[in-house]
Amino acid sequence: MNTALCRIGDLDDVKEELIAIRRHLHQHPELSYQEVDTAALVAERLQGWGYTVTRNIGGNGLVATLRSGGSTRSIGVRADMDALPIHEQTGLSYASAHDGKMHACGHDGHTAMLLGAALQLARTRNFDGVVNLIFQPAEEAGFNSGAQQMIADGLFERFPCDAIFGMHNHPGVATGTFMFRAGPFMAACDTVKVKVTGKGSHAARPHLSVDPVVAAASLVMALQTVVARNVDPMDAAVVTVGSLHAGHASNVIPEYATLEMSVRSFKPEVRALLEQRIRALVQSHVESYGATAEIDYIQGYPVLVNSEAETEFAQQVALELVGAEQVIAPFGPIAGSEDFAYFLQQRPGCFVRVGNGAGKPMLHNAHYDFNDDNVAIGAAYWTRLVERYLAPSAAA
Ligand SMILES: [Zn+2]
Ligand SMILES: [Zn+2]
Repeated sequence: MNTALCRIGDLDDVKEELIAIRRHLHQHPELSYQEVDTAALVAERLQGWGYTVTRNIGGNGLVATLRSGGSTRSIGVRADMDALPIHEQTGLSYASAHDGKMHACGHDGHTAMLLGAALQLARTRNFDGVVNLIFQPAEEAGFNSGAQQMIADGLFERFPCDAIFGMHNHPGVATGTFMFRAGPFMAACDTVKVKVTGKGSHAARPHLSVDPVVAAASLVMALQTVVARNVDPMDAAVVTVGSLHAGHASNVIPEYATLEMSVRSFKPEVRALLEQRIRALVQSHVESYGATAEIDYIQGYPVLVNSEAETEFAQQVALELVGAEQVIAPFGPIAGSEDFAYFLQQRPGCFVRVGNGAGKPMLHNAHYDFNDDNVAIGAAYWTRLVERYLAPSAAA
């Protein structure tokens, strides 16, 4: 057994193979819930390297398990596999062959990095315990996502994990730069749809109406007090009314008005407060005008909260691997949201961001591409993280 901890150069001999896999995935993107060929490719590789692969967990999800030594200690490492409904405009030789579908969030790279770690761990086996490599579908779904479905399908009961780790690339920062933050790291994002119903009338007879336009307009102003007057000024939160519609004619008071909000926060308790206040305010405010309100409060992904100890540990692994110049901590928080948050509600762990290159196109952009310089770096980070977490010397 090789007992030296993994370094980036250890992947040199397989780097081109991993980049080829990454580009193949890039060329053949599959949307959320449709990752059939991607999952098949991943499973085939993993089986070839000696993993026990369990497929169709929460849809197209799969878990690859490798044991070494006698310890029952365990770790989960997750990559996401799905693409987005975007028409690629990169002009790359390996650009999407599936029109209207694109790996514009780098999940092709996340999958390739974790496959690289799988290969390295299988050939060195420099750990004592159980490794569960989690390949997740449908991260981009927005709700009822892959993480939720895998958990509901018994992920952690069937594949015990003492802790779980994840990674996302981050355009605008140099490749190989790791960004950490313990505690709330990425936002919760909820969508609220409100229908204000009044009583329509002729515009010249407003006294016979219950005007939903006036009630909705007043409601928009009243909603501004939720962040300003209810949320602690030291906490971040956003309530944006991004859509407001009512009526079709100047001489008609309409029956109803609709509005839609985006609600973001970084702490579970702030998120709960926002929902409670928005619901109460909408109902009572609209009622004061004699109108009624229907509220559809749609929970998006929750706040992503990294646990302290696991974040400190993961940061240490990155420091050993790339040095202090390439580790930024604390970084963020980030206003985007991520369904890895659900895994972190179940187990302690750390979600890290890794630079995708300065000046590179942003995520979900038609010109975006995952940076292949990260494939070996990410694979080495995962390998070393597993080796350190399941270090033989730490066995009790
Ligand atoms: Zn995305
Ligand atoms: Zn993503």
